Amino acid sequence: MQLNLATLVLLDIYILLLVGVLMLHAWSRGRDSTLGYLAAALLIGAAGTVVGSLRGMGVDWVPILLGNVLVLASAALAWTALRVFAGRRPSRAGMLAGALVWLALCLVPAFYQSLPIRITTGSLLLAGYAALGAWELWRSRRRLEVDIRPALVLTLIHTGFYTVRAFFDDNLPFDPSGASTHFFALVVLETLLYVIGLAFVTLAMVKERAELRYKSAALRDPLTGIGNRRAFVEAAECQLGVCARLRRPAVLLLCDLDHFKRLNDNFGHATGDQALAEFGRILASRSRQQDLCARIGGEEFVCLLAEADATAALALAERIRSEFAEMPFVAEGQLSVSIGIAEAQLADYELTRLLSLADQALYAAKAAGRNRVELYRAEPR
Ligand code: GH3
Ligand code: MG
Ligand code: MG
Repeated sequence: MQLNLATLVLLDIYILLLVGVLMLHAWSRGRDSTLGYLAAALLIGAAGTVVGSLRGMGVDWVPILLGNVLVLASAALAWTALRVFAGRRPSRAGMLAGALVWLALCLVPAFYQSLPIRITTGSLLLAGYAALGAWELWRSRRRLEVDIRPALVLTLIHTGFYTVRAFFDDNLPFDPSGASTHFFALVVLETLLYVIGLAFVTLAMVKERAELRYKSAALRDPLTGIGNRRAFVEAAECQLGVCARLRRPAVLLLCDLDHFKRLNDNFGHATGDQALAEFGRILASRSRQQDLCARIGGEEFVCLLAEADATAALALAERIRSEFAEMPFVAEGQLSVSIGIAEAQLADYELTRLLSLADQALYAAKAAGRNRVELYRAEPR
């Protein structure tokens, strides 16, 4: 099938505009700067394609200078979109570099008048920007929580395509009535696929990251930074299920700060908040990586220890209790915590029952004068 070059270029402009406007709309919904830069890249790319196709109209300097500057600016903005997604600041110098190099070279008559040299140089500059985009993702791969592979493959293919073009283009001048056997037809087709692909994978990455962040925020207690009740219930039920299947021990610590209402009344709510944050810090730092710590209520915290017995739990609880009580804080003797401990076997590994048994032990600790640790002991039958 033979396609007319002008038809292909028109299709390119249409797709760039359409995807650019849709991207602008996506950006306006959440003001994510990645989408903003990509929308700008697509719309400027559309303008560059329009200007670039004004050949043979007696104003060739317009497409050669302005057309290429716009196309290079578009590539620079696409790189910047990936750069800000990876958490870096946009580089103004980097964004201007391509266009400035182009304008400077155009001052040299030998460059300006040679189509092959212009094609090779322009292609290498575009390949460079695409490679930079891939590099931004690659060097941040450990920090980025989302799947970057599709974007990486796409930008590398784009880099490869323009590197090949730099050396294998047939160097024919752009002729709108020309046929699609022209190498330029491949350029137009590749742009089409790259634009659609890049828009899709970038939107997918931005959406995936937003979802992960909302999910993580929904499971975190903002005051202490540890998990909240929802996170604990989800993870603890799963953990207890595994321990039950493998018949492995697990123990629950239920901690309730003592006379907390009094602390609030005497020193203010902000001081109370500070005490909660400190307790959360102690709990998280004293427990092991695999333990599940959470703030499940106002001044109530839990910690589920898998692969631990009552002796280990008692030792850990005692360490937490004494560290909290000895913490220098507003006035001496203001801080203390009571901790109830229950073993999962005694609750048949059922979370609700385990919490209830730990609560009974906690009640005993409160009744015995607070600032102490109690282990739930089954009544002898
Ligand atoms: P007990 O030793 O029997 O546990 O007494 P308590 O005063 O600690 O227990 P009580 O249940 O009577 O009071 C808990 C207090 O915790 C009441 C509430 O104002 C306070 N509280 C709950 N959430 C927060 C919070 O996020 N920040 C602050 N500062 N206080 C909170
Ligand atoms: Mg309480
Ligand atoms: Mg309390």
